[in-house]
Amino acid sequence: MRRRLPDGRAAPCTTPFEKGGDAARGLGARFPPRPPFPKEERQVDSLCPYCGVGCQITYRVRDNAIVTAEGRDGPANHGRLCVKGRYGYDYARHPQRLQKPLMRKPGVAKSVDNTLADFREASWMEALDFAADGLKRILQRDGKQALAGFGSAKGSNEEAYLFQKLVRTGFGSNNVDHCTRLCHASSVAALLEGIGSGAVSNPVADVEHADVIVVIGANPTVNHPVAATWMKNAVKRGATLIVMDPRRTELARHARYALQFKPDSDVALLNAMAHVIITEGLTNDAFIDERTEGFADFRENALRVTPEAAAAVCGIDAETIRAVARTYAQARAAMIFWGMGVSQHTHGTDNARCLIALALMTGQIGRPGTGLHPLRGQNNVQGASDAGLIPMMLPDYGRVADDAVRSRFEKLWGVQLDPKPGLTVVEILDAAHRGEIRGMYVMGENPAMSDPDLAHTRAGLASLEHLVVQDLFLTETAALADVVLPASSFAEKTGSFTNTDRTVQIGRAAIAPPGEARQDLWILQELARRLGLDWNYAGSQEVFEEMRGAMPSIAGISWARLEKEGAVTYPCVDAADAGQPVIFTERFPTASGRGRFVPAQFRPAAEVPDADFPFVLITGRVLEHWHTGAMTRRSAVLDALEPEAHVDMHPADLAELNCVAGDFVVLETRRGKVSARARADAGLARGTLFMPFCYVEAAANLLTNPALDPFGKIPEFKYCAARITCSVR
Ligand code: SF4
Repeated sequence: MRRRLPDGRAAPCTTPFEKGGDAARGLGARFPPRPPFPKEERQVDSLCPYCGVGCQITYRVRDNAIVTAEGRDGPANHGRLCVKGRYGYDYARHPQRLQKPLMRKPGVAKSVDNTLADFREASWMEALDFAADGLKRILQRDGKQALAGFGSAKGSNEEAYLFQKLVRTGFGSNNVDHCTRLCHASSVAALLEGIGSGAVSNPVADVEHADVIVVIGANPTVNHPVAATWMKNAVKRGATLIVMDPRRTELARHARYALQFKPDSDVALLNAMAHVIITEGLTNDAFIDERTEGFADFRENALRVTPEAAAAVCGIDAETIRAVARTYAQARAAMIFWGMGVSQHTHGTDNARCLIALALMTGQIGRPGTGLHPLRGQNNVQGASDAGLIPMMLPDYGRVADDAVRSRFEKLWGVQLDPKPGLTVVEILDAAHRGEIRGMYVMGENPAMSDPDLAHTRAGLASLEHLVVQDLFLTETAALADVVLPASSFAEKTGSFTNTDRTVQIGRAAIAPPGEARQDLWILQELARRLGLDWNYAGSQEVFEEMRGAMPSIAGISWARLEKEGAVTYPCVDAADAGQPVIFTERFPTASGRGRFVPAQFRPAAEVPDADFPFVLITGRVLEHWHTGAMTRRSAVLDALEPEAHVDMHPADLAELNCVAGDFVVLETRRGKVSARARADAGLARGTLFMPFCYVEAAANLLTNPALDPFGKIPEFKYCAARITCSVR
């Protein structure tokens, strides 16, 4: 049993040999020297497969396995890596890796607890025919709206593009979505409405030019660790950091202002900041006049929210709100970063609307060191969204309901497209429950872990007549499948990926897939052909060429250019365009060319604490694990560092429960119950609990609330009512 610290965390290794560095520093006399890493046969320049920062990596490879990973001098990382990038590559060789197609044995009921014993191995021919026949049967019998597909934000741009094309041209509907719905859908809805583009305005590296940096509802030290290092460097250089979060995060130690506001009260706090900026004459009137519209209504709304009134809601005193508002508005250049603490609410779109308004009213956008940056989660969530892996938009964000946009793609793809926007992630599973969606194709996503209210989600997946899952492991979603297609891991494929900065880079195959696992592009095309599509792409380059033709934003990025330059930031309209890291310099890509203010009023979360469920549950990530843990929990170093599910809470709440850190607690909401070890975290306010969602043995999403933001259709992962009891020691 691993030794534990008083706060419940696993204790660090303590011997010099275990620490790994002391032998090299000359302390090895008393300990055996660490064996040298096996010498590599070759080096492959690629990328990190985890977060949206998009760090460039060199993999050293021997015997078809990666032996080390080192940071390269990419634009996002300049040689830096976090623990996931440096050590999280060995999942690709985990013994649980699927190496043959699997088909469910006759008579085996669908359950998330199904194991390999509930499936039989099949040939690729049999599995692909079975997969396609099931989808075709439903299509012919129940029509195009009875099928849906979830693509992946971890796959390449080319895979995302082909996946959405398959659903739109093979299934015939727009029922295609991916995990962007669960992370920044509300941010994108607000950005498209306010400034005409869902992407970031400035790269992370622009913190170098900022004198004020606002980080709200984000924990970059954990979720975007290399980005956090640039923010800390900027503070050392003299920039003022303002951190606003219901949890006091590690980054707050570097902040001049750390506002630990009450969960769910973002709109009140941000409207009060706008109130101060207006009433103290700190608005940039020239910018408002020349480049925006709708300020009068926004102003009227903000004037109703005094700092004193907001203080009662958000728990931050009025003078601090004033000081922070002045600091942001008076900065020469100020950037705002936000994460899922802003977006994953039923008022996530309103939260983002307020942030956009702050930038517009002060003119803090369109210049180096300014702007709006929703930190994108997965390594390719930006690229997958750009490629059209969303139900209401075709590649490059043309709306499916727009006749002109649709007819352009109908010409390109040679088929008639459905003008009706498709269903989103949570809506698709609700429709499965109702029996309206009968068949699904899921590539590299794990909704049976990542979606809210998992009991409902899993029942929806289990109720499907035909579920095709393409993945590396028998994930919780694959366990519910009728047929499982073993796919390629990140290090086994070559493709382009787009990071949070809008920078397109190439990930290169370093190793070959094991056994009979196949390239995702190959699997996609085999299924497409069986659905009657005449596809014959030779590889990623050929798909990327088609994408360039369809997407003006990347028209200037050829594959050869990516190979030569290593990274190109879109928009990049032609070969002479160097790429545009800072956008909106002269106009916004809205119909009028102006940024639009949208007023927002404070409204509470969908489910607030009461006598039965008196705590607030917030879910999120830990540094060592990524998303549902499918990869990092199969990575030896990362899982050794964070091996166990835990619930974090304020030490005083822990004491009140008559618990100590390390005890098991039972956490319960109206949707489910889990048990995990308690940890003490004085950074959490009393009455709030934090739980990571990567642990299947205590799946936090069994507890979360599926209530949706009405605009972005994103669930409220960051707030629900919970109760907690001490279990056993
Ligand atoms: Fe990978 Fe993100 Fe860490 Fe960079 S910061 S190494 S991209 S997980």
